[in-house]
Amino acid sequence: MKAHNFYAGPSILPKSAVKATAKAIKNFANTGMSLASISHRSKEFEAVVNEAVALFKELLNIPEGYEVLFLGGGASMQFAMIPMNLMKKKSVYVNTGVWSTKAMKEAKLFGEVVEVKGEDFYHIPKGYSIDPEADYIHVTTNNTIYGTEIFEDINSPIPLVADMSSDIFSRPIDVSKYALIYGGAQKNLAPAGVSFVIVKSELLGKVDRVIPSMLKYETHIKDGSMYNTPPCIPIFTALQTLKWIKKEGGVEAMQKKAQKKAELLYNEIDKNKVFKATVADPDRSLMNICFVMKDEYKDKEAEFSKFAAERGLIGLKGHRLVGGFRASTYNALPKASVKALVKAMQEFEKQIIK
Ligand SMILES: *Cc1c(COP(=O)(O)O)cnc(C)c1O
Repeated sequence: MKAHNFYAGPSILPKSAVKATAKAIKNFANTGMSLASISHRSKEFEAVVNEAVALFKELLNIPEGYEVLFLGGGASMQFAMIPMNLMKKKSVYVNTGVWSTKAMKEAKLFGEVVEVKGEDFYHIPKGYSIDPEADYIHVTTNNTIYGTEIFEDINSPIPLVADMSSDIFSRPIDVSKYALIYGGAQKNLAPAGVSFVIVKSELLGKVDRVIPSMLKYETHIKDGSMYNTPPCIPIFTALQTLKWIKKEGGVEAMQKKAQKKAELLYNEIDKNKVFKATVADPDRSLMNICFVMKDEYKDKEAEFSKFAAERGLIGLKGHRLVGGFRASTYNALPKASVKALVKAMQEFEKQIIK
C-alpha cells in the first residue's frame, strides 16, 4: 500500500532528495567513500555547503549583507542564541503558540520581554504596536501545532526576527525586511540535525555580554559553518531539496502548489458534516491543516484514525495540545496525497451519516 506521509516533522522530503542521499551514503560524489565517512573539510563536501548557501540566496532572493549558516542544535538552540546575540535590554515576542512561548522563555534569561498576544492561539494577533525601544521583535511565521500562519512580511521599526521552521521555501519572502530568519530543517528541507540561519551581519557584535564561541553567530560566519563538524548528511539532503525546489519552479511554484492543496483540504473540512476546522481565515496555515470532529461525532475520532490508516494516510494525529487531526502539507507532499485524504473524509462521512 502507498503511504501518504502527513507527519508534522520530521516529515516528507522530495523523493529525488531521499534517493540522492541514499546513493551518496554508498558512494559520495564518485569518491568511492560514503557521505557518512568523509571529512567535512574534503573539497567534495565543501562544494556541497557552498552550493547549498548559493541556492538559499538564489531561491529566497537574499540581498547583499546577509549570511546563510547551517548549524546544529535545532531551532530550539536558536531560541537562546538570538537573545544572546541581539538583545541588549529588551525584545518583543509575538506569542502565537507553543514554539514562540518556548522562544520567549529563553529570551527572558537575557533581558526584558514584551509579549504580544492574540485572543488565543487559534488567531494571529493583529493591529498591535511595536515598542520602538526594543532591540528586536520575534515572530513565528507558521505555528506548526495550532495551524496558524503569518503570511505578511511585517513592516517593523526595529529588527525583525522570524522562526520559519515550518514554512521556509513555501512562498516568496522579502528577506530585506528581516534581521534574522531561522528554523530547524526537518519540516520542509532535510532530515533532523541541521538548522538554518539567515542573518544580516551588520546587526551582530553590538551586545556586551560574554558569548561562548559556539553560540556566537560571528564564529560560524567566520568559518563558513565549519567552526566545528557540521551535520554533513542533513546538509547534503538540504542541498538536494533546494535543487528540487529550483527544478519545480522555485518558491513561487511552491506557493501555488501549497495554495491548491490547502484549498482542496479546507474546502472539504468546511463542507464535511463530520469534521470542522479549528482555525478560520485569514489565519489558516497552508502547511499544517488542523481539524477536529464536530461535537456530535466526538466519539468517532479513533474510528477515523483507523479508517485513515487503512488507506495509507499516516501521521494525521493532531498535537496532544490541540487534539483531533493535523495534515501537514509541506512542499514535498504530492497533491495526490491530499486528494486521498479528502476522499477518505468523504467516504467516512457517508459511513457515519446514513
Ligand atoms: C519544530 C519547530 C521548532 C523546533 O525545532 P527543533 O529543531 O526540534 O528545535 C521550532 N519552531 C517551529 C515553528 C517548529 O515547527
